[in-house]
Amino acid sequence: MAKHTFQTEVNQLLDLMIHSLYSNKEIFLRELVSNASDALDKLQYLTLTDEKLKSLSFTPRIDIAFDSEKNTLTISDSGVGMNEADLIENLGTIAKSGTKNFLSKLSGDKKKDSALIGQFGVGFYSAFMVASKIIVTTKKAGENQAYAWISDGSGEFEIEPCAKDTHGSEIKLYLKDDEKEFASRWRIEEIIKKYSDHVPFPIFLHFSETKSEGEDKEKKEVLEQKCEQINKASALWRVAKKDLKEEEYKEFYKTLSYDSLEPLSWVHTKVEGSIEYTTLFYIPQSAPFDLYRVDYKSGVKLYVKRVFITDDDKELLPSYLRFVRGIIDSEDLPLNVSREILQQNRILATIKSASTKKILSEIEALQKDTEKYSKFYKEFGRCLKEGVYSDFENKERLLELLRFSSTKSEGKEISFKDYKARMIEGQKAIYYLQGEDLELLKSSPLLETFNKKGIEVMLFSDEIDGIVMPMVNEYDKTPLRAITSKEALEDLGEANIDEATQEKFKDLLESIKKALGDEVQEVRLSTRLVDAPSCVVEAEDQNSAMLKMMRQMGMQGGDMPESKPILELNPNHSILTKMLASDDTEKTEQIAHLLLEEAKLLEGGKLKDVNAFVKRLNTLLQASI
Ligand code: ADP
Repeated sequence: MAKHTFQTEVNQLLDLMIHSLYSNKEIFLRELVSNASDALDKLQYLTLTDEKLKSLSFTPRIDIAFDSEKNTLTISDSGVGMNEADLIENLGTIAKSGTKNFLSKLSGDKKKDSALIGQFGVGFYSAFMVASKIIVTTKKAGENQAYAWISDGSGEFEIEPCAKDTHGSEIKLYLKDDEKEFASRWRIEEIIKKYSDHVPFPIFLHFSETKSEGEDKEKKEVLEQKCEQINKASALWRVAKKDLKEEEYKEFYKTLSYDSLEPLSWVHTKVEGSIEYTTLFYIPQSAPFDLYRVDYKSGVKLYVKRVFITDDDKELLPSYLRFVRGIIDSEDLPLNVSREILQQNRILATIKSASTKKILSEIEALQKDTEKYSKFYKEFGRCLKEGVYSDFENKERLLELLRFSSTKSEGKEISFKDYKARMIEGQKAIYYLQGEDLELLKSSPLLETFNKKGIEVMLFSDEIDGIVMPMVNEYDKTPLRAITSKEALEDLGEANIDEATQEKFKDLLESIKKALGDEVQEVRLSTRLVDAPSCVVEAEDQNSAMLKMMRQMGMQGGDMPESKPILELNPNHSILTKMLASDDTEKTEQIAHLLLEEAKLLEGGKLKDVNAFVKRLNTLLQASI
């Protein structure tokens, strides 16, 4: 008998499970049935593709038995099974980054943590919520030796060779005293109906019933062993739309996604013709926790003629739709498709493209319900922007789906369409200002001329906007322009400053540039300012958002020097005209710095040397008292 210790993370998870205040304990059965179903999926696939297993006799099924006196519950499957190494790996460690990530989020507050559990696929270990001891007896298909895995969930497990006739696994739970309810026929049926009705394999429940035997005086009660199928075992997505109830779609979503919330919407499609397939896609209410991780898990399962092929192919949908959960079931693909073939398969490419369009239509339909759509957009708007960047074919449709704040949107978010409808006469382009902080954008001095002329400006404050939006040249034939661009100022007829003014400020600009040295790329007069004395704009050949993102992701280019801004000054502002009149070089120098610093602050940029800024400010304050 070999003793093993659990990986630290498993212990953490077990501790949480065992002491959990989690009220929804019944889900352990869903998890075990789902594992059994996965094991059947795997073996079914292997018997079709693996030479060694092709001759194996295989009747896929799941069996549940219980003993209400001994207080045990057993879930068995005729699936792929595990050998000793598999047991150590699968039931001794946590391989999934998602679960690890979940564990790292735990607060130590049992109540809060328990609430978190429900949002994650907690798997096999959840059985320790109801069991004080578990014995897994299992034999791997194609191998001879069976093994028993035994644990009470307190830090250690044992593995020993044992006897078992058939391949597959048997999970025996010794229920805790106060969890007797799960060793009952009605309770088990109830849970299976609720969560596992559409598991595509039959689930049989074994139970005994008392029956009267003999006549009158001879009559006696005997126990009769019975076995009944308790789930529909139909692949729900194969059922015609008209025969499915809303509730059934919702329950199926839960078994598919492990999401405790209901789906926001779904779209079920059966395609017949030269290529035949069925798809069922769900849009969740809230973002999966791994949405922005590179190692996110695909949410779509591929089946061929109802046989499960993979749930680990990220190419089934474009990556920006990775929040979608669902099923693709093809009639035309060969069952033994290899991964490489999948990648370049023409049929799959067709399904992918059609599915993308279907899902986009569904998202478009969501727009009808403003509240629902804004909920959706809050969770997944960023993904749509990724799509604008990466899905050339659907770029126009995706642009229609975007929402932004603007200088006139009054807290609401508007679409490009809304914006266009409100453009003022003679307006040549859709104007936007991009930055990190919406509140700062709203009060940016760069907006002054636009506000004065009554021209609405969209405010792009999402980090990804800085990368995606410069790539969007136009919307519905109207050009998109950053208000910091030369073109935008030209549109307003304000690109030039008359020569006399230029001449008047020439020397002052030079001394300001000298004072600021390396901190700015250029100092020039501005036509865009009304009330503010100064602003900073980005040099046209640099994209600071891109550089910043690269630096954050630790990418090459991250070492590139920070982009230097251009300082623009308002020739009509009294600070500037007073500076013209002054010959105090020291003061000019100090004010030059302050003008740059205040412009940077208004833009949300950080000051390099806050102490120097405060010192300067104080010197000037002292002089003014
Ligand atoms: P998950 O199923 O989400 O991967 P679990 O903790 O439930 O996580 O299970 C861990 C692993 O143990 C599974 O990925 C699978 O490889 C293996 N396993 C669990 N139950 C069974 C079973 N009934 N038959 C074969 N393998 C199983």
